[in-house]
Amino acid sequence: MPEQSDQTPRPDPDTRFIHSPADPDAAYHAVMPPVYRATTFHQPDPWESGAYDYGRSGNPTRHAFEEAMASLEGGQRGLAFASGNAALTAFFLLFGAGDHLVVTEDCQGGTQRILRGVFRRFGLSVTYADTSRLDQVQAAVRPETRAILVENFSNPFLWVTDIPALADWAHGQGLLLAVDNTFVTPYLQNPLKLGADLVLHSATKMISGHSDLTGGIAVARDRELAARLYFIQNSCGAILSPDDAYQAHRGLKTLPVRMRQAAASALALAGQLSDLPAVEAVYYPGLPSHPGHAVACATMRGFGQMVTFRLRDPAWIPDLVQHLRWARVGAGLGGTETIVSLPELHCHAALTPDERRARHITSDVIRVSVGLETAQDILDDLLGAIRRAAS
Ligand code: PLP
Repeated sequence: MPEQSDQTPRPDPDTRFIHSPADPDAAYHAVMPPVYRATTFHQPDPWESGAYDYGRSGNPTRHAFEEAMASLEGGQRGLAFASGNAALTAFFLLFGAGDHLVVTEDCQGGTQRILRGVFRRFGLSVTYADTSRLDQVQAAVRPETRAILVENFSNPFLWVTDIPALADWAHGQGLLLAVDNTFVTPYLQNPLKLGADLVLHSATKMISGHSDLTGGIAVARDRELAARLYFIQNSCGAILSPDDAYQAHRGLKTLPVRMRQAAASALALAGQLSDLPAVEAVYYPGLPSHPGHAVACATMRGFGQMVTFRLRDPAWIPDLVQHLRWARVGAGLGGTETIVSLPELHCHAALTPDERRARHITSDVIRVSVGLETAQDILDDLLGAIRRAAS
Protein backbone atom coordinates (compact mmCIF):
# COMPACT_ATOMS: atom_id res chain seq x y z
CA MET A 1 0.00 0.00 0.00
CA PRO A 2 1.10 3.56 -0.54
CA GLU A 3 2.30 5.40 2.51
CA GLN A 4 -0.52 6.60 4.69
CA SER A 5 -0.71 9.84 6.60
CA ASP A 6 -1.91 9.86 10.21
CA GLN A 7 -5.43 10.88 9.16
CA THR A 8 -5.76 8.11 6.56
CA PRO A 9 -8.16 5.48 7.94
CA ARG A 10 -6.66 2.02 8.13
CA PRO A 11 -8.04 -0.59 5.76
CA ASP A 12 -10.90 -2.68 7.01
CA PRO A 13 -9.51 -5.99 8.27
CA ASP A 14 -9.24 -8.48 5.42
CA THR A 15 -11.26 -10.85 7.58
CA ARG A 16 -14.46 -8.95 6.82
CA PHE A 17 -14.02 -9.73 3.12
CA ILE A 18 -13.61 -13.44 3.81
CA HIS A 19 -16.33 -14.05 6.41
CA SER A 20 -19.84 -12.73 5.84
CA PRO A 21 -22.00 -12.37 8.95
CA ALA A 22 -24.48 -14.95 7.62
CA ASP A 23 -23.63 -18.65 7.30
CA PRO A 24 -23.49 -19.13 3.51
CA ASP A 25 -24.78 -22.69 3.82
CA ALA A 26 -27.08 -23.25 6.78
CA ALA A 27 -27.70 -26.90 5.78
CA TYR A 28 -24.12 -28.22 5.77
CA HIS A 29 -21.98 -25.21 6.80
CA ALA A 30 -19.90 -25.38 3.62
CA VAL A 31 -17.40 -22.54 3.73
CA MET A 32 -18.47 -21.36 0.27
CA PRO A 33 -22.13 -20.82 -0.67
CA PRO A 34 -23.61 -23.56 -2.81
CA VAL A 35 -24.69 -22.56 -6.33
CA TYR A 36 -28.47 -22.87 -6.54
CA ARG A 37 -29.48 -22.85 -10.18
CA ALA A 38 -33.13 -23.70 -9.54
CA THR A 39 -35.58 -21.08 -10.77
CA THR A 40 -38.54 -22.55 -8.88
CA PHE A 41 -38.73 -23.25 -5.15
CA HIS A 42 -41.40 -25.67 -4.00
CA GLN A 43 -44.03 -24.12 -1.74
CA PRO A 44 -45.66 -26.90 0.32
CA ASP A 45 -48.07 -24.30 1.63
CA PRO A 46 -48.70 -21.87 -1.27
CA TRP A 47 -50.41 -19.39 1.09
CA GLU A 48 -47.34 -19.10 3.28
CA SER A 49 -44.45 -17.64 1.30
CA GLY A 50 -41.02 -19.13 2.03
CA ALA A 51 -37.63 -17.42 1.75
CA TYR A 52 -37.49 -18.01 -2.01
CA ASP A 53 -40.13 -18.73 -4.63
CA TYR A 54 -38.80 -17.76 -8.07
CA GLY A 55 -35.27 -17.11 -9.36
CA ARG A 56 -35.76 -13.57 -10.60
CA SER A 57 -37.29 -12.53 -7.28
CA GLY A 58 -34.62 -14.11 -5.11
CA ASN A 59 -31.87 -16.71 -5.16
CA PRO A 60 -29.80 -17.98 -2.22
CA THR A 61 -26.45 -17.79 -4.06
CA ARG A 62 -27.14 -14.24 -5.23
CA HIS A 63 -28.41 -13.40 -1.77
CA ALA A 64 -25.16 -14.57 -0.15
CA PHE A 65 -23.19 -12.16 -2.37
CA GLU A 66 -25.68 -9.35 -1.78
CA GLU A 67 -25.46 -9.86 1.99
CA ALA A 68 -21.66 -9.89 1.94
CA MET A 69 -21.60 -6.61 0.00
CA ALA A 70 -24.24 -4.98 2.23
CA SER A 71 -22.26 -5.90 5.31
CA LEU A 72 -18.94 -4.63 3.89
CA GLU A 73 -20.44 -1.37 2.68
CA GLY A 74 -22.45 -0.78 5.83
CA GLY A 75 -25.83 -0.72 4.08
CA GLN A 76 -29.23 -2.25 4.75
CA ARG A 77 -29.38 -4.35 1.62
CA GLY A 78 -27.38 -5.25 -1.48
CA LEU A 79 -28.95 -5.95 -4.86
CA ALA A 80 -26.90 -7.72 -7.52
CA PHE A 81 -27.45 -6.99 -11.20
CA ALA A 82 -26.38 -8.47 -14.52
CA SER A 83 -23.80 -5.70 -15.09
CA GLY A 84 -22.59 -2.42 -13.67
CA ASN A 85 -24.69 -0.61 -16.25
CA ALA A 86 -27.77 -2.61 -15.16
CA ALA A 87 -27.15 -1.41 -11.57
CA LEU A 88 -26.82 2.18 -12.85
CA THR A 89 -30.01 1.73 -14.89
CA ALA A 90 -31.88 0.58 -11.77
CA PHE A 91 -30.72 3.77 -10.06
CA PHE A 92 -31.89 5.95 -12.98
CA LEU A 93 -35.27 4.15 -12.93
CA LEU A 94 -35.90 5.68 -9.51
CA PHE A 95 -36.57 8.95 -11.34
CA GLY A 96 -39.18 10.15 -13.81
CA ALA A 97 -40.03 12.71 -16.46
CA GLY A 98 -39.08 16.23 -15.44
CA ASP A 99 -36.46 15.10 -12.90
CA HIS A 100 -32.87 16.25 -13.19
CA LEU A 101 -29.59 14.68 -12.07
CA VAL A 102 -26.08 16.03 -11.56
CA VAL A 103 -23.46 13.50 -12.65
CA THR A 104 -19.64 13.50 -12.58
CA GLU A 105 -18.55 14.80 -15.96
CA ASP A 106 -15.46 12.60 -16.09
CA CYS A 107 -17.52 9.39 -15.93
CA GLN A 108 -17.35 6.10 -17.78
CA GLY A 109 -18.74 6.35 -21.32
CA GLY A 110 -21.54 3.88 -20.56
CA THR A 111 -23.17 6.16 -17.98
CA GLN A 112 -23.37 8.98 -20.48
CA ARG A 113 -24.66 6.61 -23.18
CA ILE A 114 -27.53 5.33 -20.99
CA LEU A 115 -28.56 8.84 -20.01
CA ARG A 116 -28.33 10.25 -23.53
CA GLY A 117 -29.62 7.25 -25.48
CA VAL A 118 -32.30 5.90 -23.15
CA PHE A 119 -33.40 8.13 -20.28
CA ARG A 120 -33.47 11.40 -22.22
CA ARG A 121 -36.39 9.91 -24.21
CA PHE A 122 -38.29 9.53 -20.95
CA GLY A 123 -37.70 13.12 -19.87
CA LEU A 124 -34.87 12.63 -17.35
CA SER A 125 -32.29 15.38 -17.80
CA VAL A 126 -28.71 15.65 -16.58
CA THR A 127 -26.00 18.22 -16.03
CA TYR A 128 -22.41 16.98 -15.95
CA ALA A 129 -20.16 18.69 -13.43
CA ASP A 130 -16.79 18.39 -11.78
CA THR A 131 -18.10 16.76 -8.60
CA SER A 132 -14.68 17.10 -6.97
CA ARG A 133 -15.61 20.80 -6.70
CA LEU A 134 -18.57 21.57 -4.47
CA ASP A 135 -19.06 25.00 -6.08
CA GLN A 136 -19.51 23.31 -9.48
CA VAL A 137 -22.08 20.88 -8.09
CA GLN A 138 -23.92 23.77 -6.45
CA ALA A 139 -23.96 25.66 -9.74
CA ALA A 140 -25.37 22.63 -11.59
CA VAL A 141 -28.27 21.98 -9.22
CA ARG A 142 -31.76 23.16 -10.25
CA PRO A 143 -35.12 23.14 -8.48
CA GLU A 144 -35.98 19.87 -10.26
CA THR A 145 -32.69 18.14 -9.31
CA ARG A 146 -33.34 14.94 -7.39
CA ALA A 147 -29.92 13.32 -7.02
CA ILE A 148 -26.18 13.55 -7.52
CA LEU A 149 -24.29 10.61 -9.00
CA VAL A 150 -20.57 10.71 -8.30
CA GLU A 151 -18.10 8.46 -10.02
CA ASN A 152 -15.15 8.08 -7.67
CA PHE A 153 -12.37 7.94 -8.76
CA SER A 154 -13.57 9.42 -12.01
CA ASN A 155 -12.75 7.90 -15.36
CA PRO A 156 -10.24 8.39 -16.93
CA PHE A 157 -8.69 11.33 -15.01
CA LEU A 158 -9.26 9.95 -11.50
CA TRP A 159 -10.82 13.02 -9.90
CA VAL A 160 -11.43 12.56 -6.19
CA THR A 161 -14.70 13.73 -4.66
CA ASP A 162 -14.93 14.63 -0.99
CA ILE A 163 -17.86 12.33 -0.18
CA PRO A 164 -18.44 13.46 3.45
CA ALA A 165 -18.56 17.14 2.43
CA LEU A 166 -20.79 16.50 -0.57
CA ALA A 167 -23.13 14.22 1.42
CA ASP A 168 -23.49 16.87 4.07
CA TRP A 169 -24.39 19.54 1.55
CA ALA A 170 -26.65 17.26 -0.57
CA HIS A 171 -28.71 16.20 2.42
CA GLY A 172 -29.21 19.82 3.41
CA GLN A 173 -30.76 20.31 -0.04
CA GLY A 174 -32.89 17.16 0.15
CA LEU A 175 -30.85 15.50 -2.63
CA LEU A 176 -29.97 11.82 -2.79
CA LEU A 177 -26.26 11.03 -3.15
CA ALA A 178 -25.21 7.93 -5.10
CA VAL A 179 -21.57 6.93 -5.57
CA ASP A 180 -20.27 4.67 -8.32
CA ASN A 181 -17.37 3.30 -6.30
CA THR A 182 -16.06 0.86 -8.91
CA PHE A 183 -12.52 2.28 -9.08
CA VAL A 184 -12.15 2.84 -5.35
CA THR A 185 -13.67 -0.49 -4.18
CA PRO A 186 -15.03 -1.26 -0.69
CA TYR A 187 -11.47 -1.91 0.41
CA LEU A 188 -10.45 1.73 0.08
CA GLN A 189 -13.67 3.52 0.94
CA ASN A 190 -17.24 2.85 2.07
CA PRO A 191 -19.29 5.83 0.86
CA LEU A 192 -22.38 4.85 2.88
CA LYS A 193 -20.38 5.17 6.09
CA LEU A 194 -19.38 8.66 4.94
CA GLY A 195 -22.96 9.80 4.36
CA ALA A 196 -23.88 8.65 0.82
CA ASP A 197 -27.30 7.02 0.29
CA LEU A 198 -26.39 4.48 -2.34
CA VAL A 199 -23.19 2.82 -3.53
CA LEU A 200 -22.91 1.19 -6.95
CA HIS A 201 -20.19 -1.03 -8.41
CA SER A 202 -19.43 -2.73 -11.64
CA ALA A 203 -18.59 -6.13 -10.13
CA THR A 204 -17.04 -6.93 -13.51
CA LYS A 205 -13.95 -5.08 -12.29
CA MET A 206 -11.98 -5.27 -9.03
CA ILE A 207 -14.69 -7.05 -7.00
CA SER A 208 -14.69 -10.21 -9.12
CA GLY A 209 -11.13 -9.40 -10.12
CA HIS A 210 -10.37 -11.93 -12.85
CA SER A 211 -11.86 -10.47 -16.06
CA ASP A 212 -14.24 -13.40 -16.32
CA LEU A 213 -17.73 -12.23 -15.39
CA THR A 214 -20.04 -9.29 -15.97
CA GLY A 215 -21.98 -8.07 -12.95
CA GLY A 216 -23.08 -5.10 -10.88
CA ILE A 217 -24.17 -4.40 -7.34
CA ALA A 218 -26.04 -1.63 -5.55
CA VAL A 219 -26.10 -1.24 -1.77
CA ALA A 220 -28.60 1.12 -0.14
CA ARG A 221 -28.14 2.77 3.22
CA ASP A 222 -31.79 2.67 4.25
CA ARG A 223 -34.60 0.17 3.94
CA GLU A 224 -36.95 2.42 2.01
CA LEU A 225 -34.47 3.05 -0.82
CA ALA A 226 -33.50 -0.64 -0.80
CA ALA A 227 -37.18 -1.61 -1.18
CA ARG A 228 -37.61 0.73 -4.16
CA LEU A 229 -34.52 -0.73 -5.83
CA TYR A 230 -35.63 -4.27 -5.09
CA PHE A 231 -38.95 -3.51 -6.79
CA ILE A 232 -37.00 -2.40 -9.90
CA GLN A 233 -34.63 -5.40 -9.74
CA ASN A 234 -37.51 -7.85 -9.45
CA SER A 235 -39.78 -6.10 -11.99
CA CYS A 236 -37.22 -5.36 -14.70
CA GLY A 237 -35.25 -8.54 -14.08
CA ALA A 238 -31.62 -7.59 -14.84
CA ILE A 239 -30.41 -9.93 -12.09
CA LEU A 240 -26.98 -11.48 -11.59
CA SER A 241 -27.01 -15.19 -12.44
CA PRO A 242 -26.32 -17.72 -9.64
CA ASP A 243 -23.02 -18.80 -11.24
CA ASP A 244 -21.81 -15.23 -11.65
CA ALA A 245 -22.95 -14.37 -8.12
CA TYR A 246 -20.88 -17.27 -6.80
CA GLN A 247 -17.84 -16.15 -8.73
CA ALA A 248 -18.20 -12.49 -7.76
CA HIS A 249 -18.47 -13.56 -4.12
CA ARG A 250 -15.34 -15.66 -4.45
CA GLY A 251 -13.49 -12.70 -6.01
CA LEU A 252 -14.57 -10.41 -3.19
CA LYS A 253 -12.71 -12.55 -0.65
CA THR A 254 -9.32 -11.78 -2.22
CA LEU A 255 -10.00 -8.10 -2.97
CA PRO A 256 -7.77 -6.75 -0.14
CA VAL A 257 -4.80 -8.89 -1.16
CA ARG A 258 -5.18 -7.97 -4.81
CA MET A 259 -5.70 -4.28 -4.08
CA ARG A 260 -2.63 -4.03 -1.89
CA GLN A 261 -0.34 -5.52 -4.47
CA ALA A 262 -1.80 -3.67 -7.47
CA ALA A 263 -1.89 -0.32 -5.64
CA ALA A 264 1.75 -0.61 -4.59
CA SER A 265 2.73 -1.29 -8.22
CA ALA A 266 0.47 1.56 -9.42
CA LEU A 267 2.17 4.03 -7.09
CA ALA A 268 5.60 2.94 -8.35
CA LEU A 269 4.42 3.15 -11.96
CA ALA A 270 2.90 6.62 -11.51
CA GLY A 271 6.13 7.89 -9.93
CA GLN A 272 8.33 6.53 -12.69
CA LEU A 273 6.02 7.71 -15.49
CA SER A 274 6.29 11.22 -14.05
CA ASP A 275 10.06 11.10 -14.63
CA LEU A 276 9.83 10.05 -18.29
CA PRO A 277 10.44 12.85 -20.80
CA ALA A 278 8.04 11.13 -23.25
CA VAL A 279 5.16 11.55 -20.78
CA GLU A 280 3.30 14.86 -20.71
CA ALA A 281 1.18 14.34 -17.58
CA VAL A 282 0.36 11.63 -15.04
CA TYR A 283 -2.97 11.35 -13.21
CA TYR A 284 -2.79 9.25 -10.05
CA PRO A 285 -4.36 10.27 -6.72
CA GLY A 286 -1.38 8.88 -4.82
CA LEU A 287 0.92 11.52 -6.29
CA PRO A 288 1.10 14.69 -4.16
CA SER A 289 0.82 16.66 -7.43
CA HIS A 290 -2.67 15.23 -8.12
CA PRO A 291 -5.41 17.78 -7.28
CA GLY A 292 -7.35 15.14 -5.34
CA HIS A 293 -4.41 13.85 -3.27
CA ALA A 294 -5.33 15.62 -0.02
CA VAL A 295 -8.99 14.52 -0.23
CA ALA A 296 -7.93 10.95 -1.00
CA CYS A 297 -5.60 10.99 2.05
CA ALA A 298 -8.38 12.31 4.26
CA THR A 299 -11.25 10.10 3.06
CA MET A 300 -9.76 6.91 1.59
CA ARG A 301 -7.53 4.09 2.74
CA GLY A 302 -5.26 4.17 -0.32
CA PHE A 303 -5.11 5.29 -3.92
CA GLY A 304 -6.07 2.30 -6.03
CA GLN A 305 -4.72 0.56 -9.07
CA MET A 306 -5.70 2.89 -11.94
CA VAL A 307 -3.12 5.20 -13.51
CA THR A 308 -3.80 7.52 -16.44
CA PHE A 309 -1.20 9.44 -18.40
CA ARG A 310 -0.73 11.53 -21.50
CA LEU A 311 2.03 10.86 -24.01
CA ARG A 312 3.81 13.84 -25.54
CA ASP A 313 3.06 12.48 -29.02
CA PRO A 314 0.03 10.26 -29.78
CA ALA A 315 1.79 9.08 -32.95
CA TRP A 316 3.94 6.87 -30.67
CA ILE A 317 0.96 4.82 -29.47
CA PRO A 318 0.78 2.21 -32.28
CA ASP A 319 4.44 1.40 -31.67
CA LEU A 320 3.99 1.45 -27.91
CA VAL A 321 1.27 -1.22 -27.97
CA GLN A 322 3.40 -3.41 -30.25
CA HIS A 323 6.27 -3.31 -27.77
CA LEU A 324 4.20 -4.42 -24.76
CA ARG A 325 5.08 -7.90 -23.59
CA TRP A 326 2.80 -8.58 -20.61
CA ALA A 327 0.14 -5.89 -20.58
CA ARG A 328 -3.04 -6.64 -22.51
CA VAL A 329 -4.58 -3.89 -24.65
CA GLY A 330 -8.32 -3.33 -24.62
CA ALA A 331 -11.37 -2.30 -22.63
CA GLY A 332 -11.79 -3.40 -19.03
CA LEU A 333 -9.97 -3.06 -15.75
CA GLY A 334 -9.52 -4.58 -12.33
CA GLY A 335 -8.30 -8.01 -13.50
CA THR A 336 -5.17 -9.91 -12.56
CA GLU A 337 -3.50 -8.83 -15.80
CA THR A 338 -2.34 -5.29 -16.47
CA ILE A 339 -4.69 -3.73 -19.03
CA VAL A 340 -3.80 -0.76 -21.19
CA SER A 341 -6.84 1.10 -22.52
CA LEU A 342 -6.98 3.91 -25.02
CA PRO A 343 -10.05 5.80 -23.72
CA GLU A 344 -10.82 7.24 -27.14
CA LEU A 345 -11.16 3.73 -28.61
CA HIS A 346 -12.19 1.72 -25.57
CA CYS A 347 -13.86 2.98 -22.38
CA HIS A 348 -15.08 6.27 -23.90
CA ALA A 349 -15.93 5.13 -27.41
CA ALA A 350 -19.61 5.66 -26.51
CA LEU A 351 -19.06 9.43 -26.38
CA THR A 352 -19.41 11.60 -29.46
CA PRO A 353 -16.14 13.17 -30.73
CA ASP A 354 -17.37 16.54 -29.41
CA GLU A 355 -18.11 15.10 -25.97
CA ARG A 356 -14.64 13.53 -25.86
CA ARG A 357 -12.95 16.78 -26.90
CA ALA A 358 -14.87 18.73 -24.25
CA ARG A 359 -13.64 16.25 -21.66
CA HIS A 360 -9.99 16.37 -22.87
CA ILE A 361 -10.13 12.70 -23.87
CA THR A 362 -7.81 12.91 -26.83
CA SER A 363 -5.74 10.31 -28.63
CA ASP A 364 -2.70 10.91 -26.38
CA VAL A 365 -4.48 9.61 -23.25
CA ILE A 366 -3.63 6.12 -21.96
CA ARG A 367 -5.30 4.46 -18.97
CA VAL A 368 -3.63 1.58 -17.18
CA SER A 369 -5.32 -0.91 -14.87
CA VAL A 370 -2.31 -2.19 -12.98
CA GLY A 371 -2.44 -5.94 -12.50
CA LEU A 372 -0.80 -8.51 -10.26
CA GLU A 373 2.27 -9.27 -12.30
CA THR A 374 5.55 -8.66 -10.46
CA ALA A 375 5.93 -4.89 -10.01
CA GLN A 376 9.29 -4.86 -11.77
CA ASP A 377 7.82 -6.67 -14.79
CA ILE A 378 5.02 -4.09 -15.02
CA LEU A 379 7.48 -1.21 -14.84
CA ASP A 380 9.89 -2.78 -17.34
CA ASP A 381 7.04 -3.59 -19.71
CA LEU A 382 5.33 -0.19 -19.77
CA LEU A 383 8.32 2.09 -19.36
CA GLY A 384 10.32 0.01 -21.85
CA ALA A 385 7.53 0.16 -24.46
CA ILE A 386 7.20 3.93 -24.03
CA ARG A 387 10.96 4.47 -24.33
CA ARG A 388 11.21 2.31 -27.44
CA ALA A 389 8.18 3.95 -29.07
CA ALA A 390 9.50 7.44 -28.35
CA SER A 391 13.07 6.73 -29.49
N1 PLP B 1 -19.10 2.07 -13.61
C1 PLP B 1 -17.81 2.26 -13.90
C2 PLP B 1 -17.01 3.23 -13.09
C3 PLP B 1 -17.21 1.57 -14.95
O1 PLP B 1 -15.93 1.76 -15.24
C4 PLP B 1 -18.00 0.66 -15.71
C5 PLP B 1 -17.44 -0.07 -16.86
O2 PLP B 1 -16.34 0.16 -17.28
C6 PLP B 1 -19.35 0.51 -15.37
C7 PLP B 1 -19.87 1.21 -14.30
C8 PLP B 1 -20.23 -0.42 -16.15
O3 PLP B 1 -19.98 -1.71 -15.74
P1 PLP B 1 -20.32 -3.00 -16.63
O4 PLP B 1 -19.33 -3.02 -17.75
O5 PLP B 1 -20.20 -4.11 -15.67
O6 PLP B 1 -21.71 -2.81 -17.15
